[in-house]
Amino acid sequence: MTALSLQATTTLNNGAQMPWLGLGVWQAGDDAATERIVRQAIELGYRSIDTARIYGNERGVGRAIRDSGVRREELFVTTKVWTDDIRAGRVPAAFDRSLELLGLEYVDLYLVHWEIPGRITSTWRAMEALLRGGRVKTIGVSNHLRPHLDELLAAAHVVPAVNQLEFHPYLQSRPLVDFCRGRKIQVEAWSPLMQAGSLLQDRTLQEIARRHGKSVAQVILRWDVQGGVVTIPKSAHPRRLAENAGVFDFALTAEDMKAIAALDRDRRSGADPADVRF
Ligand code: NDP
Repeated sequence: MTALSLQATTTLNNGAQMPWLGLGVWQAGDDAATERIVRQAIELGYRSIDTARIYGNERGVGRAIRDSGVRREELFVTTKVWTDDIRAGRVPAAFDRSLELLGLEYVDLYLVHWEIPGRITSTWRAMEALLRGGRVKTIGVSNHLRPHLDELLAAAHVVPAVNQLEFHPYLQSRPLVDFCRGRKIQVEAWSPLMQAGSLLQDRTLQEIARRHGKSVAQVILRWDVQGGVVTIPKSAHPRRLAENAGVFDFALTAEDMKAIAALDRDRRSGADPADVRF
């Protein structure tokens, strides 16, 4: 980590700097609502925004970024290609449309949102071509399990810089995370708070949070960053945006890390990448 702040970054395998903590905007509402939230987040110091074509709010993200007054190169914008465009072999056109909706010159990170069997290699070739085109700085994947990565890497010229996965204390996928680490693929946690369900009531996490004078959400997000995982919690409320950013002023002990590791129970809140039906 370069600094103990929201601007702290990890160096990706292509040398790009990606903030450890960003804002996810799935279910953040329409373009107008998303624009408001992203603007508030940037004012609070957030520098990384994670959107996707399927979220339907790239226009709002782009407006907030363009009007933020923060230099473009200080911001890190991620978007993703959706399954219908992957199935139809329309990755370049989907990227053009995302860039047009965002109203930006480039995106920092473009991700394959879900792997589609039979399409893994051709999709990655299209991603590599986009990278060569220069309007995307970094390419990566999301929801790629070990067999998907094996297939992709067997034909890849460029190793994905990121694998964005459902990841939280109840779903730690250690072998996959270790594999990514070994290949210098940065793991990024989606639904880090498990969508604010029962995880936030977990007794062990509550006890750790009490000891540190922090919230359970802050303990989880700190655990991500401290464990080398980029994290992108979503909140539509300024108070929680600020709360989620407050993870750089304390550290979990080795004992805390061990206790959280023991909470793993292979429980998903979202779809299983082994069985994509959309
Ligand atoms: P999160 O785990 O980030 O949880 C979001 C929920 O938690 C919202 O209901 C939010 O409510 C609530 N919340 C946020 N902060 C707090 C807090 N401090 N205390 C209590 N509740 C809180 O879930 P997401 O599914 O949104 O995941 C985060 C991001 O990951 C997405 O926005 C998206 O960018 C990405 N993602 C990627 C996927 C992929 O396939 N690649 C799939 C799913 C998500 P409120 O807004 O009311 O504060």
